[in-house]
Amino acid sequence: MKTFIKNAKYFWAGKDTEVAENVSLLVEGSKITHIGTEAQVAPYAADAKNIDASELLIMPGMVNTHHHYYQTLTRNFPNVQNAKLFDWLQNLYPLWARLTPDDFYLSTTIASLELLQSGCTTSLDHSYMVPNGQSEIYFKQVEASKKAGIRFHLCRGSMSRSKKDGGLPPDCVVQNEDTIMDETDKLVKKVHEGRHGGMTRIVIAPCSPFSVTPELMIEAKKYANKMSLKTHTHLAETKDEEEFTLRDFGVRPFKLMEKLGWMDENSFYAHCVHMSPEEVVEMGRVKGGVAHCPSSNMRLASGIAPITEMLKAGVPVSIAVDGSASNDCSNMMLEVRNCMLLQRVLKTADCISARDALKVATKGGADVLGRNDIASLEVGYEADIIGFKLDSLRQAGSSTDPLAALVFCAVNEVDFSMVHGETLIQNAKFTRFSDEELKELIIKQNERSRQVYSGT
Ligand SMILES: [Zn+2]
Repeated sequence: MKTFIKNAKYFWAGKDTEVAENVSLLVEGSKITHIGTEAQVAPYAADAKNIDASELLIMPGMVNTHHHYYQTLTRNFPNVQNAKLFDWLQNLYPLWARLTPDDFYLSTTIASLELLQSGCTTSLDHSYMVPNGQSEIYFKQVEASKKAGIRFHLCRGSMSRSKKDGGLPPDCVVQNEDTIMDETDKLVKKVHEGRHGGMTRIVIAPCSPFSVTPELMIEAKKYANKMSLKTHTHLAETKDEEEFTLRDFGVRPFKLMEKLGWMDENSFYAHCVHMSPEEVVEMGRVKGGVAHCPSSNMRLASGIAPITEMLKAGVPVSIAVDGSASNDCSNMMLEVRNCMLLQRVLKTADCISARDALKVATKGGADVLGRNDIASLEVGYEADIIGFKLDSLRQAGSSTDPLAALVFCAVNEVDFSMVHGETLIQNAKFTRFSDEELKELIIKQNERSRQVYSGT
């Protein structure tokens, strides 16, 4: 299958800051095979499907590196709208325990489509909630993400430390540590695609230092190293967490990760808000990665992660929407804008540009996930491509710099999206889902959300 993306009005390859004009691309199978002017590419595109890009700004699809898809069912719940992290968690755990494997299928579908619509083409779900031991949820999630068409990194999460062992979650959502490792191994062997262009990858991801034991963290890391997999967890999200690790382990969260053998280039962490300057430098030295979640950090008043300092120190940094109970939307473009704005609150207006934030959301994400096949529009790369029209009210008057306008003017829905060489959104419409199907999915999700909230 060939697609000829013809004559893009503007073209940002994702590598530097330059925006070119009138660029055409040929996609063959899942890869970009030619880039040039229309006349240069046309001879190779005789039998290709044509996409007219003359009204589009074309750029690499963005990479979301942290989410909890199931939370799309528990967005905006009134009982936690104004809660801090630990209260928020303790109020939500019993409601999350009501979720079924079908709920995981539904919420994965909703989250994937919402992300695609906002310009994300590769997403990661940190899936640590296994209600009542129903671990088939992971296979349901893989199935749903394949149906949606998005590139998917599934974090096999885990919680083993319930309230009776000094942790936060209730018994019904934790698992025995042997079971966790056995099931993880089965999942990896069945669905992980480590090859160039792989659409489904598994990441090993115990939930957080306060919901698993140190033994499980060590075991998980050993397993990940053996299988050449990435590891991921929450880290330094709140002051409460810092107090918790100081009290239980006698060290700050960062030191705890070092002690557990986790601080290396194959690990990346959600949040990293409460990091000392020395910890930032050390993280840059070992190349531990960060999934920065600005909206969630604002929503839960967790603080501001020192992202510009991290970038200076050489820390691989990416942008993530975080779970939908703490954001409560899965919109990558809005997250890019919040990343830029929030760093300026912390520092100065010139500390981060719109282009810097877009780079963090594209190449930054690919680096954190250890991928050199996505997030750049070059020959040989996977064809994960998005396009924005430039004619909306919110863009009117911003055409002197159409790329930066995406961030400054809060443009947040794509008109075109291609993943793995397949067009998933064209003229702002999903190609695999009709409007009627979308409507039904939304009604179903609202119904289930109300049932989960009320316990019916
Ligand atoms: Zn999270």
